[in-house]
Amino acid sequence: MNDTAVETDPAPPLGSDTPLPAGTAGAVARARRGALSLRRLTIAERVGYLRTLKAIILRRREEIIDRIQKDTGKSRADALISEIFGVLDNLAWLEKYAPKYLSPRKVHTPIALMGKSSWLWCEPLGAILIISPWNYPFYQAVVPIAVAIATGNTVVYKPSEWTPLEGLLEDLFAEAQMPPNWVCVVYGDGRVGASLIDQRPDKVMFTGSTRTGKKIVQQAAQYMIPVELELGGKDPMIVFDDVNVERAAAGCAWGALTTTGQSCTSVERVYVQERIYEPFKRALVKEVERIKQEVDTDGDADLGAMTTDFQVQIVAHHVEDARAKGAEFLTGKGWSGASRMIPPMVVDKVGSDMLLAREETFGPIIPLFKFSTEDEVIRMANDSEYGLTASVWSKDLERAKRVARALECGGVSINNVMATEANPALPFGGTKHSGLGRYKGEMGLYAFCNVKSVLIDKDSAKIEANWYPYTREKYRLFTDMTVKLFGGGVIGFVKFALAGMKLERYAKKASQEGRRPGGHS
Ligand code: NAD
Repeated sequence: MNDTAVETDPAPPLGSDTPLPAGTAGAVARARRGALSLRRLTIAERVGYLRTLKAIILRRREEIIDRIQKDTGKSRADALISEIFGVLDNLAWLEKYAPKYLSPRKVHTPIALMGKSSWLWCEPLGAILIISPWNYPFYQAVVPIAVAIATGNTVVYKPSEWTPLEGLLEDLFAEAQMPPNWVCVVYGDGRVGASLIDQRPDKVMFTGSTRTGKKIVQQAAQYMIPVELELGGKDPMIVFDDVNVERAAAGCAWGALTTTGQSCTSVERVYVQERIYEPFKRALVKEVERIKQEVDTDGDADLGAMTTDFQVQIVAHHVEDARAKGAEFLTGKGWSGASRMIPPMVVDKVGSDMLLAREETFGPIIPLFKFSTEDEVIRMANDSEYGLTASVWSKDLERAKRVARALECGGVSINNVMATEANPALPFGGTKHSGLGRYKGEMGLYAFCNVKSVLIDKDSAKIEANWYPYTREKYRLFTDMTVKLFGGGVIGFVKFALAGMKLERYAKKASQEGRRPGGHS
């Protein structure tokens, strides 16, 4: 971290003497008790609850959007698109695909283990602690909770103290007929989160800042609790000079500004190839200048307010730092530096030493950078301690894919922006300081499972060739079988079958007669 960054730790210092809120003590034990009834259900029954929940959310969407807006100050359309639609889409995906991916699955059994069958059983872990941030308080609650329920786990859920949506989840889950100890919601700050980890849940799924993520992984390590960390980002957008400039500029404006730039996957660095740098800049400024900013009541505004004052301070610090180091602000020049209504700012002449180039800003700021070659832009994009997502824009799909492969991050959208996380089938997660693990999609289901490996053999008289006793003769026969098995070719396979039978006969005899069957070694 750059040492000139604002040090903000909104949570009170851990270890403070104020008593923890009611419901904190014993929360994990309550969820563990809930796990007993959830475990008994089939996968189809579990996703049945999610289907009911989906219908309830769809019906009550306007009321939920009111609550989201009240806690976050985002625009109504942002709440609809990123939170309500996103949640429904993920619930629909789970309903359709969780039974397919979570049912016992037969996998390949090699020839050397002939006669047996091999299986994957996806079993619940138990009670999962989910800790969420303030930027998507509905989505970041319901999606991981739904993944937990689909995989047969109960949940202790701790929302952000800044956007608790108090009582809303309990109300929705009760209407979906889910018993109260399937999802135990505990309100409070970081101290509450830390105390819940001390109750030793079976897994911690944390979404939030890299700073807190590091504390969580250290605390969980003491108890060997597995963790899933979805952390911050400084996501690059790379625009080559063969693109449709107007479309790329429109995508850039949305990707950098949606939810007032307070998304972990917001576009935070825009690299534009030199030949189109000026036209792209003009198109982007035009796009940004027509944005309507308001905490609206009818869906007729693009951009809302910032959610917290401490995040406003971070943005102000980055803006001041950029101004002092010579950056040029093309839009949003009139901002006081204190209001939560931060106007979107397109920033030119951004140096690599500025906070805008290195730290997560998490506000409606769009820093532009010029590049000339493919190698240069890959170096620039990877020169970050973060690695969440990225986007690459070019008509030449081969080039776009080549660059996407070279980027050190967890997801890349090609000719689109923030699009990988829009597909519930794609796993989500970062590299470097952006996190550990993946959630969502098929792989994300396994993150909440004990994937049990099972091999089934028949009860019979057969003695395995690898069981005792080991003898010189068995060593010779095993070597012969190994060479024939891995030597390749059809004839090799026939020779392997013959060698295998010989070895099996010998193994059986050796087991019945002792170390020297028939008196030979
Ligand atoms: P934060 O780290 O301050 O807080 C996140 C949550 O952790 C809150 O619920 C908080 O109360 C809790 N917490 C704080 N200290 C704790 C501790 N010691 N032990 C346990 N819990 C503790 O983050 P934030 O400011 O709420 O959220 C913004 C950050 O989240 C940004 O960095 C953003 O990039 C990141 N984020 C990441 C993703 C992702 O999926 N990668 C998604 C959304 C937000």
